[in-house]
Amino acid sequence: MPKVIPVPDELSQPFWDAVNERRLVLQNCAACDKLQYPPQAACQVCGSADGLEWKEVEGKGHVATYIVIEDGRLNRRMPDQPYNLALVTLDQDPTVNFYSNLPGVPAYQAPVGAAVELTFEEVAPGQLIHEWRVAQ
Ligand SMILES: [Zn+2]
Repeated sequence: MPKVIPVPDELSQPFWDAVNERRLVLQNCAACDKLQYPPQAACQVCGSADGLEWKEVEGKGHVATYIVIEDGRLNRRMPDQPYNLALVTLDQDPTVNFYSNLPGVPAYQAPVGAAVELTFEEVAPGQLIHEWRVAQ
């Protein structure tokens, strides 16, 4: 399935650099010790802009819920409809969420509650993205 090719900016560059090294790093707020994703200019909990540091996290999560995209408007993905769009929570901090297409899982059959692990897909030469697969 074609994926959106990320365009890193100043804020997200460290995130995408890590993804290209097959690592997952999230912003962690030193002021309130809270992880956040996607990268933002300030902590979404306490508003601190000074204390955001990059922290490597373990690529393990769970499928919280999912929907099936049947009639989406993203032209590149229309040929793949219907497809799963799952909400994945990070085990290290379940308030941190990611979206995933759960590659390999047929539409309408996403295993809610199942463990998933981080994987990476190349979407352009030299550009990886993070994705999640149901753990074996
Ligand atoms: Zn904070």
